[in-house]
Amino acid sequence: MELTKKEKILLLDTDKLLINELAGRFGNVGFDVLAATDVDTALKLIEVANPSVILLDLSMKTPDGKEFLTLLKSKSTLTDVPIIILSQDADIHSQVYGFLQGASDYIVKPFQFAEVLMRVNNQIRTRNIQKELKEKNRELMKRNIILEQLAITDSLTELYNKGYILKRLESELTRSARYKESISLIIIDIDYFKKINDSFGHIAGDNILKRLSKKLAESVRDVDIVARYGGEEFLVICPNTSISGAAILAERIRENVQNEIFQAGSTNIKLTLSLGLSNLSPSTLAAGNFSSGKLLEEADLALYKAKSAGRNKVAAFINELGAVCIDDRQKYKLIYTDTSDTKNDKFTH
Ligand code: GH3
Ligand code: MG
Ligand code: MG
Repeated sequence: MELTKKEKILLLDTDKLLINELAGRFGNVGFDVLAATDVDTALKLIEVANPSVILLDLSMKTPDGKEFLTLLKSKSTLTDVPIIILSQDADIHSQVYGFLQGASDYIVKPFQFAEVLMRVNNQIRTRNIQKELKEKNRELMKRNIILEQLAITDSLTELYNKGYILKRLESELTRSARYKESISLIIIDIDYFKKINDSFGHIAGDNILKRLSKKLAESVRDVDIVARYGGEEFLVICPNTSISGAAILAERIRENVQNEIFQAGSTNIKLTLSLGLSNLSPSTLAAGNFSSGKLLEEADLALYKAKSAGRNKVAAFINELGAVCIDDRQKYKLIYTDTSDTKNDKFTH
């Protein structure tokens, strides 16, 4: 068999005559040959030369071949290196022992060089195939991770996409119900975005969407989940957050964006957002009387309220009041008593 690259073979035997003979013959057929008659030399060679295969005489006495095999198999750097045993012991017990100790093959002395060469090449070929498969497997796993990531990511903004956030909303609701925690939702829609596209073109509009997405991702906590919900609409899930907590976050986002200068080509432009909030209290969750659809609908109603009240506003859906705008005067008066029941949520006027 032709070897594609120069493989290294390590010969471990106290029989110097045999070592010399094997070294010469393996050298002649293209191997890099390393040889050792003691443990220290063998370990050093293994460390510096990283052999492809080891030939070990199991029947040698000093050092003891069996102890040597155990020592070699205990080396983590050698787990992939096949060890072929040479031995005078042809009995089945010795052979079984060798294989149980982790040897890959067993050749009984005396032997023909052709047989040893064939078995050595066999082990090297198997090892190379295994290495290649492992490498391909690693590559596939990496690609899978990238594909999984792509499947849940919006390609323009690199935020999560709609499919992902809707699924995630279901699991966050289940989690909130289990841990008896409040959960809030914010729907965000850019005001008069069509005008920006009409004035500066779609590409400028896309760049603004990207910039805004970064701003949104920076504005929320690590545990909050931000996604692009539609064209110029975004959704934020705020786990473990009361309606007043979500109102403070929404107001901060609204103000941050209002104060930001965006670029449309070479023109500086301002942007405003309308934001709608909805919330589920622990008691509503505990009663099981909730659905992601209803929560989304309520946030949407609040968003509609923010739009109809003039835009650049935050509105919340409150059970008894319906959709209510939180203007600057009211927003800090939002009272939320966290008694595990949102019925206590009220705006004071
Ligand atoms: P409103 O204040 O009522 O929200 O007004 P609007 O113009 O923002 O209207 P709407 O929310 O219905 O926004 C729809 C517009 O958003 C249409 C389109 O011009 C723009 N848009 C949607 N998706 C994209 C996108 O992927 N890229 C760009 N550049 N624009 C988009
Ligand atoms: Mg819209
Ligand atoms: Mg809009």
